[in-house]
Amino acid sequence: MAEIATSSSRPRVLSGMRPTGKLHLGNYMGALANWVKLQDSAQYECYFFIADLHALTTDYADTSGIAPNTLEVALDFLAAGLDPKKCTIFVQSQVKQHYELPLLLGMITPLGWLERVPSYKEMQENLANKDLTNYGFLGYPVLMASDILLYQADFVPVGQDQQAHVELTREIARRFNQFYPKASSAEYENIGQVEVLHLPVLPEPKVLLTPSPKLPGTDGRKMSKSYGNTIQLTDPEPVVRQKLKTMVTDPARVRRTDAGDPDKCPVGDLHKVFSTPETMAKVYDGCRSAGIGCIECKGWAADGLVRILQPIQERRASFSATQVKEILDDGSRRASARAEETMRQVRAAMQMTLTSDTGQ
Ligand code: SF4
Repeated sequence: MAEIATSSSRPRVLSGMRPTGKLHLGNYMGALANWVKLQDSAQYECYFFIADLHALTTDYADTSGIAPNTLEVALDFLAAGLDPKKCTIFVQSQVKQHYELPLLLGMITPLGWLERVPSYKEMQENLANKDLTNYGFLGYPVLMASDILLYQADFVPVGQDQQAHVELTREIARRFNQFYPKASSAEYENIGQVEVLHLPVLPEPKVLLTPSPKLPGTDGRKMSKSYGNTIQLTDPEPVVRQKLKTMVTDPARVRRTDAGDPDKCPVGDLHKVFSTPETMAKVYDGCRSAGIGCIECKGWAADGLVRILQPIQERRASFSATQVKEILDDGSRRASARAEETMRQVRAAMQMTLTSDTGQ
């Protein structure tokens, strides 16, 4: 396995995904495709992880799916084009510092900050079949902040709707830096970090807004596993074509002879993301003049999807389970080395290390 230095002078980028099982096109277009671009740009030192500890905050009563789902997500990461030679891919629970920093940051995070996180109430309502009155669920924003701050990440690539989480991370970092501006020089010398004295221990990460095109599921709502309307990255071509056949269309096109509008049709939205300009022109023209039928139009949309999915599926098939585990082990080891650099600074700043003058 190629050795990558644990630190570089490039800005650090970090993002993760919960192990929800096989990923779908919405995950790919909303995050993964962009991660691959970031990694390939070589501008950033990239860390991408599978947030299995986050899965525990809601799935604590039945943990049987977490490990298999972690491997599926890892396979999808690799299939989408993440390359362990260019970025660090790791599993959150395999980096033990992810258990330590949330505890320390939990001490300084006011309860009100957690209770006001919009997704806290929202998820409790959406997952009404689960008891989410647990401490871990309330504290998940602290876990999330720790994920980012452990790597002293400069940027977090997120969509518009996730900006609030990064803002809370910034607030927690600010509060930490106010309480513990820096370690004494003796403590820094002790950990060999004299050169970073002038910097706050936990830099405030910035949002790297990622473009995420509107990607409807087969029922016209946002593509989401919880709606059961997804097209998975692993769906074979016949399944993709079948799913598209059942996809909702512009409600104005009741009969074949009715004109429609691709701008009011979920299939039209798929065309905008996946089809060529020539196909798009045929769709607009044919739909608005009732010159084409929806079945034909959906077939063209399926062609575009299959073009994207084929190389992803070929790459997926090229990895064995053993290889995936090795990549995750190696990535987790590298992530742990980087996280430990931060933890040394955190422990020193909080005076949680025993130095020779501690006991005076
Ligand atoms: S022709 Fe295509 S864009 Fe028009 S309503 Fe049918 S599926 Fe939608």
